Amino acid sequence: METTANLLSDKFGRVHDYLRISLTERCNLRCFYCMPEDGIVLKENEAYMNKAELLSIAKTFVSLGIKKIRLTGGEPLVRKDAAEIITELGKLPIELAITTNGILLDKFITVFKNANISSINVSLDTLNEAKFNKITRRDYFTKVMSNIDLLIKNGFNIKLNAVLIKDVNDNELIDFIEFTRDRKIHYRFIEFMPFNGNKWDWSKGVSFEEIMSTVKNVFGNKIIKLTDKKNDTSKSYKIDGFEGTFAIISSITNPFCDSCNRIRLTADGRIKNCLFSDSETNILSAYRAGENITPLIIDTVLNKKLRRGGMDSMEDILNIEKNSKNRAMVSIGG
Ligand code: SAM
Ligand code: SF4
Repeated sequence: METTANLLSDKFGRVHDYLRISLTERCNLRCFYCMPEDGIVLKENEAYMNKAELLSIAKTFVSLGIKKIRLTGGEPLVRKDAAEIITELGKLPIELAITTNGILLDKFITVFKNANISSINVSLDTLNEAKFNKITRRDYFTKVMSNIDLLIKNGFNIKLNAVLIKDVNDNELIDFIEFTRDRKIHYRFIEFMPFNGNKWDWSKGVSFEEIMSTVKNVFGNKIIKLTDKKNDTSKSYKIDGFEGTFAIISSITNPFCDSCNRIRLTADGRIKNCLFSDSETNILSAYRAGENITPLIIDTVLNKKLRRGGMDSMEDILNIEKNSKNRAMVSIGG
């Protein structure tokens, strides 16, 4: 497939070569920080990109300079044609990756290998079964843990994601890091972010500073700072002698907007130029009407705001009027 020079720059000179595609708004978990308590209202099937539309739109993005695609959701692996989509995307000249809650991983090992997926992010907010059931409102802890072992055995590059929330899982921080002692995994601690319906309140969040203070109290001068890549959204560390590593994603207290290279495509075919943005471009309608979607994509990227979808300051992000206009996270694709 032909690719050109990257045409996806914004007004601030940021070049976008990383697309996250949500395969579905459905999910087999109900994590309270992501999915509103009453769930979300799903649209009729036709409102979502079918396989052919998704692949064709993805190819247009690649022709404009996208070099990496991460599949997400909802839970990407609950989509019935997920394996076919992964297989087809695996043929494009891109790095393909996926973010999943891990429940269905064992059914996809061969598909991932054939599609050259090497990097897999799995959400794991707790190492305690009872707490897992409480956070996710489902009881798949044992399944997820055995699937993480399976990924390790199969040599995948694994990142585990934990959204840290006060009085929920913040007391497990050191256990999470201990989990990297004998396992070659990268554990990432994510600051709790506001989305529609997740009852966000920053007093429940755990900041970068607080995380590092706890880690320093326990590991002191055994903490080694690792070099971060230019577009990394996290700051990475390891503990001297440990097999694995860990990182902090501080989207609230220290966003990584200056080097952002990401765009998102929702399952219903809207481009979001920022995770926090409340504006969207409906390219699926344009595609179905036979319009050329290239100018729409270029324009949407060009008009990306400088920081967090226009919520520049900490004051803005704390303002419920401003931070609740976005969709629920489960229907964006984190
Ligand atoms: N279902 C898959 C999973 O759980 O990994 C993929 C979709 S999920 C929306 C993607 C990531 O978003 C997960 O790592 C999850 O922890 C993160 N996430 C969801 N809601 C969040 C919030 N309010 N703040 C920070 N991260 C959040
Ligand atoms: Fe589902 Fe992932 Fe959201 Fe949990 S974080 S409800 S697994 S989409």
